[in-house]
Amino acid sequence: MASRTINVLSVASECAPLVKTGGLADVVGALPAAVAEHGVQMRTLLPGYPQVMEKLGKTKIALKLPSLFGGPAKLVSATAFGLDLLILDAPHLFHRAGNIYLGPDGKDWPDNPERFAALSLVATKIAMGDLKGWQPQVLHCHDWQAGLVPEYLNMAGGTGKIGTVLTIHNIAFHGLADVAKLKTLGLKKARYTPDTFEFWGKISALKAGLTGADRLTTVSPTYATELMTDHFGMGLDGVMRHRRGDLSGILNGIDEAVWNPAIDPEITPYKTAAGKAANKSALQKEFGLPKSDGPLCVVVSRLTDQKGLDLLLDCLPHLTHLGGQLALLGSGDPGLEQGFKKAAEHPQIAVKIGYDEALSHRMMAGGDAILIPSRFEPCGLTQLYGLKYGTIPLVALTGGLADTVINASPAALATGVATGVQFNPITHDSLITALDRLISLYNDPKTWAQLRKNAMKQPVGWGPSASSYTDLYRDVTPPV
Ligand code: ADP
Repeated sequence: MASRTINVLSVASECAPLVKTGGLADVVGALPAAVAEHGVQMRTLLPGYPQVMEKLGKTKIALKLPSLFGGPAKLVSATAFGLDLLILDAPHLFHRAGNIYLGPDGKDWPDNPERFAALSLVATKIAMGDLKGWQPQVLHCHDWQAGLVPEYLNMAGGTGKIGTVLTIHNIAFHGLADVAKLKTLGLKKARYTPDTFEFWGKISALKAGLTGADRLTTVSPTYATELMTDHFGMGLDGVMRHRRGDLSGILNGIDEAVWNPAIDPEITPYKTAAGKAANKSALQKEFGLPKSDGPLCVVVSRLTDQKGLDLLLDCLPHLTHLGGQLALLGSGDPGLEQGFKKAAEHPQIAVKIGYDEALSHRMMAGGDAILIPSRFEPCGLTQLYGLKYGTIPLVALTGGLADTVINASPAALATGVATGVQFNPITHDSLITALDRLISLYNDPKTWAQLRKNAMKQPVGWGPSASSYTDLYRDVTPPV
């Protein structure tokens, strides 16, 4: 029997290819098509940043909002890149140049709480039936920016009538606001308690979502377990333990229409790893690196403490000593940017500071290995791109990196299932040992070829995860 269609509104602050700072955007952008195959009609609600507005083409006004957190706004509908979009066009909140979260001083915009409260409030209005002709049965909220949705829904009398799911893409970002903002954000003082959204004397949008949503998910089974620990829970581990029965880990997939070496317009396409050679030469040329006998390692990453790249920086003399090269693309922490720029004085190391989507594809195709020494990693996408492109991931044993890479242990090599190198504990010494292992695998051409073949065969698409999300949406859909 065919199951009925479920209407889901996905609420997020980023969505590829419209606006992206990290993996959240890739997931929000890929999810609608993935779940459509299972009978889910998903619309995506996003802020109307300039980079979004300019890519929309034809729009229709769906809802007028004469006064929304200090100014007039409207909700417009549009389709773009195969996405069915609802865009919150609120110029006073979102028409700002530069990074979507940070002002020119590199600090969070002071009104970030209001900006994303506005997004959450409008999601609630849509859920409560304010939009003509379409109403969701489920709200899928992503990260702290949509964290207040369950609270606003509760205030509007919608709890139990509309299902809510909150996905944690990274628990490090809490969406904190000063308690003086309770009134501005339209929140009730009586609800400001440790059981709801109070967090050490502040309002936490993420905690509102974690305590209020019907179900919680995160982006890998291992991270789901880690979140309940003191080390990874970032002060919210108690909440996570309390809600363990409602929490599940669903692995991210990759959009194989965008990340696929057989059809990628940015590269010399290939179907087997032999096709990587031309891309490697091109990448070495692009980065000004000499031809070499050793592996070309790549990094495509935000440069932050989370990503453990300070550990890598310290290990670079070892990598080059073993004959390896490094090409890095990233931006973020000024100290790390400086450190890598300095390291690039070595002829076997090249660094580009910045954000460049097209180059990131060429790096996946041209690299021999991708290095991801993260201290924590909810899921991680670049190791999945690496697998798909036959670029062997060397990863820390944490979060989604633990769930998606099969370590080249003697047993995994013997049974032909190994796809990469994992290391643990996440320390300098252990990374050194992992680099040794990587290079000795590379220097054994037969084993390396087998690794690449295994990697390229590993399923990294949305298949099973799209089913899991659909099951979840069905579970939280209130009976009619
Ligand atoms: P996170 O979301 O923590 O940054 P993920 O691995 O989940 O980490 O996702 C990062 C995404 O951002 C990937 O699609 C990666 O290719 C992309 N990315 C990160 N830094 C850059 C950069 N400097 N240039 C281009 N793409 C980047």
